[in-house]
Amino acid sequence: MEKDCIFCNIDKSKIIFGNDSFIAMMDEFPVSKGHMLIISRRHIENIFDLTMNEAESLQLMLIEVKKYLTMHYHPDGFNIGCNCGESAGQTVMHFHMHVIPRYKCDVKNPRGGVRGVIPKKRNY
Ligand code: 5GP
Ligand code: ZN
Repeated sequence: MEKDCIFCNIDKSKIIFGNDSFIAMMDEFPVSKGHMLIISRRHIENIFDLTMNEAESLQLMLIEVKKYLTMHYHPDGFNIGCNCGESAGQTVMHFHMHVIPRYKCDVKNPRGGVRGVIPKKRNY
């Protein structure tokens, strides 16, 4: 628990569901309808710091989040990912996984998906 970390100090009323190791909540600045974050209960920096038990628990949470989003938002696909390190775009240094629902025609040409982290290389 870090006193200056926003994800260590989450307003509990915003938690949608959780398990022993993770909570799921809506992203405050969603990139698509239903953009959720899976956030570790432990203050660790990124996915490489998870224990094997946590990694398994994360997979179970991801399945729950997918079920929740499918039921409530009916997306056509998902982008799932973690920014690890400032150079990769991470702004909150507490583990979180982005689960971003995608919808047919939400962008003109979705080809390449997460390759878009380097925008000019997205399409190939
Ligand atoms: P990062 O850039 O570190 O991968 O992602 C941080 C994410 O946290 C961003 O998508 C941002 O919108 C989200 N975020 C920032 N502040 C808050 C907050 O106070 N509450 C929630 N739920 N999400 C936040
Ligand atoms: Zn934290």
